[in-house]
Amino acid sequence: MEPSALGIIGAGTMGIGIAQVAAQAGLRVAITDAHPEAFSSARERLEASLTESVERGKLTAEAAEACRRQVTWEADLRSLVEADWVIEAVTEDMGAKREVLRTISAITHPETPLATNTSTFRIADLAQHCARPDRFLGLHFFNPPPAMKLIEVIPGAATSAVVTEAALALCERLGKTPLIAPDIPGFIVNRVFAALVAAAADLWAAGAEAETIDRAIELGLAHKLGPLRSADLVGLDVMLAVLRSLHEQTGDARFRVPEGFVQLVESGKLGRKSGEGFHAHPGSRL
Ligand code: NAD
Repeated sequence: MEPSALGIIGAGTMGIGIAQVAAQAGLRVAITDAHPEAFSSARERLEASLTESVERGKLTAEAAEACRRQVTWEADLRSLVEADWVIEAVTEDMGAKREVLRTISAITHPETPLATNTSTFRIADLAQHCARPDRFLGLHFFNPPPAMKLIEVIPGAATSAVVTEAALALCERLGKTPLIAPDIPGFIVNRVFAALVAAAADLWAAGAEAETIDRAIELGLAHKLGPLRSADLVGLDVMLAVLRSLHEQTGDARFRVPEGFVQLVESGKLGRKSGEGFHAHPGSRL
């Protein structure tokens, strides 16, 4: 059956972006968060993204208006009970994800497929907290979801073939390109990207200019965005959680975080969303 209603848990950078993508594809979207007091800034971010899409000619003004009508902001997780699909997009913290997966599993219909947008945790580990591990898998969107084509689809050991097929169909419906990725910490993209960011941050901590490092990678490897510019876009707090999680799970020195990176985050320099990170982002503070 074609899904018509999507539930999203976590109204942060990714939850909002996924909500826009789904609403543009004609799905009704109910989005919830543990901090509903943050809904007004989340709405502003969705609004800013829709306005930008219209200005760039990616969306008509009528389609943007239709999107606004498709999205509801819900303080209570139980509002997701009617969803045909649920995507968890809360903070990259095992405790938070465990609690959310347990709670949502107990609320939704047992057959409702449940996906996580985790960047680093293994699906098999998260599945232990779901009532129906066979209905659970990873759907890893990229930032910003309206612009990025790829979705990594990660079946866990227990995921049924039917749910994987349904996930691939959902990605197509959302206008994205799904690729099946292995259930290892970081999957494919973050496994490679995090190691690159850590290596670039090491160079920066040793005194190299962020601009020089990024330009070198952009020109030398034909990357559209250098690793430190990309990390600023992701959010340095999110990037730090990704690196710590990968380091903890794998013990691999490639994911060790330089102390200067931690200091940036602790001093509130979170990248584009705070107006400054490895680079200055005047005017982009949200
Ligand atoms: P974010 O910090 O912008 O938003 C997370 C949201 O989750 C916040 O609004 C927070 O209030 C909410 N939250 C925290 N605990 C909760 C709970 N128990 N119940 C309900 N809501 C809760 O983070 P984000 O960047 O949107 O990342 C969300 C997920 O997506 C993470 O797993 C992250 O690794 C993954 N991800 C992030 C990116 C990126 O570039 N930012 C890209 C791909 C995947």
